[in-house]
Amino acid sequence: MARVPASRLPQHPLIVTAEEDRVRHARGQSFPDWLAMRSGDFEFFPDGVAYPETSAQVRELLAFAVQHDFIVIPYGGGTSVAGHITPQKSTKAILTVDMGRMNQLMDLNEESQIATFGAGTPGPQVEAQLQARGYTLGHYPQSWELSTVGGWIASRSSGQQSLRYGRIEQMFAGGRMETLQGTLDIPSIPASSAGPDIREVTMGTEGRMGIFTEVKVRVQRAPEEEKFMVCFMPDWQAGKTVAREVAQQRIPLSMMRVSNAKETRAHANLGTSLKQFKLLDGYLRFRGLDDNRCMLTFGVTGSKYQNKVALKQLKKILKKHGGVGGALANIMGTIWAHGRFKFPYLRETTWAQGIAVDTLETSTDWGNVDEQMSQMETTLENALKDDGEEVMVFTHLSHIYGQGASIYTTYFFRCADSYEATLERWKKLKSKTCEVIAQGRATISHQHGVGRDHALYMPVEKGELGMRVIKTLVKDFDPEKRLNPGVLLQDTP
Ligand SMILES: Cc1cc2nc3c(=O)[nH]c(=O)nc-3n(C[C@H](O)[C@H](O)[C@H](O)COP(=O)(O)OP(=O)(O)OC[C@H]3O[C@@H](n4cnc5c(N)ncnc54)[C@H](O)[C@@H]3O)c2cc1C
Repeated sequence: MARVPASRLPQHPLIVTAEEDRVRHARGQSFPDWLAMRSGDFEFFPDGVAYPETSAQVRELLAFAVQHDFIVIPYGGGTSVAGHITPQKSTKAILTVDMGRMNQLMDLNEESQIATFGAGTPGPQVEAQLQARGYTLGHYPQSWELSTVGGWIASRSSGQQSLRYGRIEQMFAGGRMETLQGTLDIPSIPASSAGPDIREVTMGTEGRMGIFTEVKVRVQRAPEEEKFMVCFMPDWQAGKTVAREVAQQRIPLSMMRVSNAKETRAHANLGTSLKQFKLLDGYLRFRGLDDNRCMLTFGVTGSKYQNKVALKQLKKILKKHGGVGGALANIMGTIWAHGRFKFPYLRETTWAQGIAVDTLETSTDWGNVDEQMSQMETTLENALKDDGEEVMVFTHLSHIYGQGASIYTTYFFRCADSYEATLERWKKLKSKTCEVIAQGRATISHQHGVGRDHALYMPVEKGELGMRVIKTLVKDFDPEKRLNPGVLLQDTP
C-alpha cells in the first residue's frame, strides 16, 4: 500500500478520510496515472473523499470548502486520460467529490424524450435504466463501463456511435450545476436564438466552473436492430474516401471507422489465431487486396427498414471504391462488437511482455487528415531514436464528419529499466506529438479533453483573446481557484 499522509481536512459528516478512499481517488487512467498505480508512487492524494447523494449536499460541501479554504476536485468515473482528477502539490487541503451515488434516472419525459439523471450515473446504469423503459441515450465511449454522464459533459466526450447519436454536446439538454456563486439552472430548450447559450458555456469546463448534479439528456426510442460489420478496402485513400462520402452524403450509419494499413495488419495479427490469419489473408489476396488493404468497421442502428436502406446506399459507395466484404463482414463485425470495450485492457497484457501502450487523438479537416496522421506517426516513430528505441504506431479514423475526421493513433514502446525511465520515454513521445498536433491545424483533443496534460497547448488552439474569455469565465465563477485548479488552464491554486 502507498504511504498516505495524514488528512488536512476538518471533520464533516459527508467527508471520508480513510486511506483506501483516498488512494482509490488519487489517480485517473492516463499513462502516468497507470504507472503511478503500478509502482505505488502516487505522489499526492486527496485529503478526503465525499460521496454526496443530493444537490443540497454538494452545495453544503462547496460552502464548507469556502469556510475552511480547501480545494475541491469533482470526480465522475475517474476515467480521465489527461490528468483531470489528479491532486497536485498544494498547501491547501484537497477534497475529491465523487458523484457516484447520484446515479439514478430521476425523470423520463417521454413526450419530449428528455431524461434527467443524477450526474454520477455511469454508462451501464444510464442504458439499463433507459432500456427498461424502451429508450436509449446511445453514448458509448470506450470507457463506457465506468465513465459518467456528468464527466462526459464536463469533458466533451464522444461515443463510438456518434454518427447516429451525435457527441455528448448534442445530447446534453440542460440541468443543474452547483457553483461557488450559487445554483446554475440550465434551461432545457430544444433550440434558441436568445444570445449565447449557457448550456454550451458549461460544457467542457472540466470541473472549473461548478459541479453538475442533475443533467437532462435527449434520448431516443431503443433501436429495433443494430448490426456491426467489417469490410476491406484496397488502400488508405479508398477507405478514407468511403468515409468522407458516407459523412457528406449523410448515409445513416451509426458508426464508421477506417484503420490504416498498419492498424489493419496489427488487428489481423492480434485478433486471430495463425490459422485464422492465414485464411483471412489468403481470401483477401484472392480478392486482389495486398498489404496496403485497410479495414473499415461500420454499424447500422435503427429500424430494419432504415438499416436496409442505409446498407444499400453504402454498398454502392463501397463497390465504387473496390471494397471487399462478403461473408466476412458480419462475423468480423460481431467480433468487433463483443470486444468494443475490451481493447484498453490490452495495456495489462503488453505490459507483462515489457511493452507499454498509449494513444493520442485529434481531429482535423479532410484536407489535412493525411498530413496530420503522417506527422503524428512519424513523430512517434522517431521520438525515441536517440535512445535507440523503436516505437510501433498505427492509426484509425474513429469519428467522421462532413468537414473532417478524428485521428486516433495507438503507439507501443519498450518499457525501460525503471518506472521513472519509462515515464521519461512516454513524456518524450507525448510532448513531441502534442506539439505537432497543436501546430498542425488540428485540435489538441477530439474526445479526451484538456486536463493538466493538454493545458499547455490550449493557447495555440484558442488564441490570446479566446484564452482571456475562458480565464474570465472561470475566474468569475471561482475567483479563488478552489475548483480543480491547474486543469483546463495552466494555473496554480
Ligand atoms: C480506456 C479508456 C477509453 C476511453 N475512451 C473514450 C472515448 O471513446 N470517448 C471519450 O470521449 N472519452 C474516452 N475516454 C476518456 C474519458 O472516459 C472521458 O473523458 C470521460 O468523459 C470522463 O468521464 P468520467 O465520468 O470518468 O470523468 P472523470 O474522469 O472523473 O472526470 C473528468 C473531468 O470531468 C470533471 N467532472 C466529472 N464529473 C463532473 C461533474 N459531475 N460535474 C463537473 N465536473 C465533473 C472532473 O473534474 C474532470 O475534470 C477514455 C478513457 C479510458 C480510460
